[in-house]
Amino acid sequence: MPEVVCDECKKPITKKDDLVVRSQFHGFSFKKFHKGCYKDPYKGSAVFSIGSFLYGYGRPVNSKETTIRRIAASMALVILGLFILSIAKTFAMTLFAVLVIILSPLILLTKRAYVYLKYERPLD
Ligand SMILES: [Zn+2]
Repeated sequence: MPEVVCDECKKPITKKDDLVVRSQFHGFSFKKFHKGCYKDPYKGSAVFSIGSFLYGYGRPVNSKETTIRRIAASMALVILGLFILSIAKTFAMTLFAVLVIILSPLILLTKRAYVYLKYERPLD
């Protein structure tokens, strides 16, 4: 069983409920914390991050709030894609719309699934 170690205190995290996973940048790089060791990087910050607001960029990946944001963002993009598809007159526009419909949920939800499989499931 792979051990999940807190990036703040360097001690192992043993309970799923005690785990906070925060994504680094937009890729598949994550920091893991105990609930008590985690500090919200946006707390008290006046910087408004659209990415953070829309799909939880920089926020804990494994929180219910972020999951809901990601699902909502996916659905909004699928609806946008369907709208583009309905007005598409060229092959390029149709292709673009189809890519938006397929890739938006895939990209937004793959990260969530990855965190679940890699860090949360082993602690169950
Ligand atoms: Zn810790």
